[in-house]
Amino acid sequence: MTAFSNLKAFFQYPADKKYEAEIEQHLVQDALSTYKMLCIVILCMQSFMILTFLFKEGGPFSTPRRSGYFILYFMLLIPFSVFLFLLKKWERSGGRFNFLRYEIYVAAYLCLWSCMITFLDQFGGNGLIVYCYMMPTTAVFCIIKPWQSVAVYGVSCLFLNAILPLLPGGTNNLFSNMVNSIFITLISILVSINLYHYRIVSLYNKLIMLGQYDEICRMNEALNRIALTDQLTQLYNRRYLTDTIYQKLTGREYDGMTVAGVMLDIDHFKQYNDTYGHLEGDACLKKIAAELNKYNHTDNYYALRYGGEEFFIIVPGLSREEGMELAEYLRLTIYNLNIPHGSCPEKRITVSVGIAADTLSPGFNLKKFMECADSALYHAKRTGRNRSVLYTPGMHSESAT
Ligand code: GH3
Ligand code: MG
Ligand code: MG
Repeated sequence: MTAFSNLKAFFQYPADKKYEAEIEQHLVQDALSTYKMLCIVILCMQSFMILTFLFKEGGPFSTPRRSGYFILYFMLLIPFSVFLFLLKKWERSGGRFNFLRYEIYVAAYLCLWSCMITFLDQFGGNGLIVYCYMMPTTAVFCIIKPWQSVAVYGVSCLFLNAILPLLPGGTNNLFSNMVNSIFITLISILVSINLYHYRIVSLYNKLIMLGQYDEICRMNEALNRIALTDQLTQLYNRRYLTDTIYQKLTGREYDGMTVAGVMLDIDHFKQYNDTYGHLEGDACLKKIAAELNKYNHTDNYYALRYGGEEFFIIVPGLSREEGMELAEYLRLTIYNLNIPHGSCPEKRITVSVGIAADTLSPGFNLKKFMECADSALYHAKRTGRNRSVLYTPGMHSESAT
């Protein structure tokens, strides 16, 4: 029973069937260069034999046996030249054509050819040499299914042994020829099936591993996104600033470029929460974040949620004045959202903004830069809120929050 199931497994597809089409595609790609080499070797060998026969005394057609060999060399040279030409054509067209489906015909043709040569050999002796090296060689190169191996090599062996006794030299050593041909046929079948299994299983494992690797990359990407994004507002978070953005800003690409930082804090937000509730507070944060996020996908504009109701926007390439313009634009945009806030003098949500500017270099001090923006924000708060203040060196470095 175990022997039978082992034998059954030997003939079954050795991988998950749902990967069959993908595995075949890879097999074709992998086999393409091997087949080209096989064709070239066959063409060289046959050309050499043809030339040898052409220069032999009496020429290639001096005897019927010699003519037979000569014709057989062409019978390998011509189809394999065509095969090589087609392989190159398929390769140029992206190698999509699945020539492995026709591989059984190539194997069968090579087996038939070796039988024909072996028959001719019987007119000058009783050798099985060509048959004995052609069978395993075909088994190594041709990727055919297990049952196809049994059919092709088995039928060749039967055909050979059915004809051998009818030929002049074939009756000598008939028994040993029979034993040798059966033995080499069995070896060829085993080699062919084992190689088929090995190729399929290694490709299957490779595909599984690639799939797992892709999955890990996707999960890593998702985790990275989660780690660098603020959940409530979907803006970048502080870690994104200190890791990714900082690395960019201190890179060679930005060396010598001006940079503006805009620190933005919602006015009287505690009272907003107290009046409208925490959930409304969250909704307000989301609305403001959505405004700031509008430009996040444009080059060199990074908006992030710095803390509770504080946001920071950093824009390499902007001068002090442009930073101030951006701050005012954002302040007014939020003002115009007209989110009601009864406890505010303006009766709507407003923000105070502090702006810092600097020049980027590999030694750029992000912490100091943020402190400058924070000091300017503190001034904005102290001098009445709902305004933008540009940092100047005389300002307090005290935090506004
Ligand atoms: P100021 O004008 O001086 O900035 O006053 P403020 O009330 O805005 O500042 P304060 O630092 O006193 O309060 C900030 C408030 O922001 C307190 C906290 O409840 C609120 N807050 C922080 N994070 C969140 C959040 O994720 N959701 C909500 N709804 N509120 C938050
Ligand atoms: Mg505030
Ligand atoms: Mg604050």
